[in-house]
Amino acid sequence: MWLTNGHWFDVESAAFRTGDIRIEDGRIAAIGDAPSGSETQDMEGRWLLPGFIDNHVHITLDTSTASGNNVWRDALPGSIAIHAAWNARRLLMCGITTARDVGGWDYHEIAVREAIDAGKIEGARLFCAGKILSMTSSSTPYYPGMYEECDGPAEIRKGARKQLAMGANLIKILASGAVNSTKYERADAIQLRPDEIDAAVEIARDNFTHVAAHAHAAEAIKNAVRCGCRSVEHGSYADDEALGLMVEHGTYLVPTFCTAHAFLKDPKFADQALPHVKERYKSREVMRQKNVRAAHKAGVKMAMGSDVGTPGNHCGENMQEPVLLVEKCGLSPSEAIIISTRHGAELLGQEENLGALARGLIADIIAVPRNPLDDITALHDVDFVMKEGVIFRDDRA
Ligand SMILES: [Zn+2]
Repeated sequence: MWLTNGHWFDVESAAFRTGDIRIEDGRIAAIGDAPSGSETQDMEGRWLLPGFIDNHVHITLDTSTASGNNVWRDALPGSIAIHAAWNARRLLMCGITTARDVGGWDYHEIAVREAIDAGKIEGARLFCAGKILSMTSSSTPYYPGMYEECDGPAEIRKGARKQLAMGANLIKILASGAVNSTKYERADAIQLRPDEIDAAVEIARDNFTHVAAHAHAAEAIKNAVRCGCRSVEHGSYADDEALGLMVEHGTYLVPTFCTAHAFLKDPKFADQALPHVKERYKSREVMRQKNVRAAHKAGVKMAMGSDVGTPGNHCGENMQEPVLLVEKCGLSPSEAIIISTRHGAELLGQEENLGALARGLIADIIAVPRNPLDDITALHDVDFVMKEGVIFRDDRA
């Protein structure tokens, strides 16, 4: 089949080109002119992009409440899996064809990944971290299905091996405190020590995968980078030294900028949160804007991650992240698209399969009705989604 009459985004030149795309056996077989008589799908002048990759999601979390305190306390186990499956489909329908889940809940997200891969349900292609390796902390009871408490390198090794044994594709660690935590835990506190992070990186490398490090504190970012974590999540308090180290080591920053915006957009919702959590979000909004701008200026490699799963930050609204990175943080529209496609694939080690419209790659293709280089908010109007050559959404049909 050929997709004809569309403009397609070339990640190499960061520009749209004209030409038809041939899909065969779930991959892009050719880009050129469709021969007459071939089976075609007329894209009617739409703007085609590689399927977007969101490198920071939590499909198991319930985002409808502002309280992060054990949201699933009264849930049936099956309810969590069904919620996660529904979220995985919402990702796909908004144009996220691939997502990295960096903290699930009792491995329900891995069951969802398997069901998607087996063709039993519709959803984004998932790469999962299983549970997050955390030191002993006051916040573990907030996330009993999401955290694996480990202290010291030996327990970290065991925790990492356990996630891989449960089907994890990567390892996620907490190198610093978190925002959605108890009042006894500071987001800018260092958590896992370098010897512990080293142990996680060792196990990941032994198993041909990588570590994603949650890190707000500057020193926690430096620990994560020096130990060889492939990505730093959030990076809120990065100083010049931390940014320089990230450039030197080629570490990806996944800025998760939209979390404060999503949390604060409805004041009534934000008022339901614990006072210290609301205060943290408020104080971070402007600070994060400066911080992501500084990282961009320093030349830190970025990959897009929305952190859907945090309160008010719903699966299906992921495109607010690339849009806000343009509107608030100084990225150009083409940069926002490239960090959401090619860079996302590189972070996952999937650049041979994903992240571009090019011959031989998996046919993950989305379309928007107007040129997103002129107006990045076009990303909110995805009306066509193809994953591995199968059309899952076509609003024109
Ligand atoms: Zn997160």
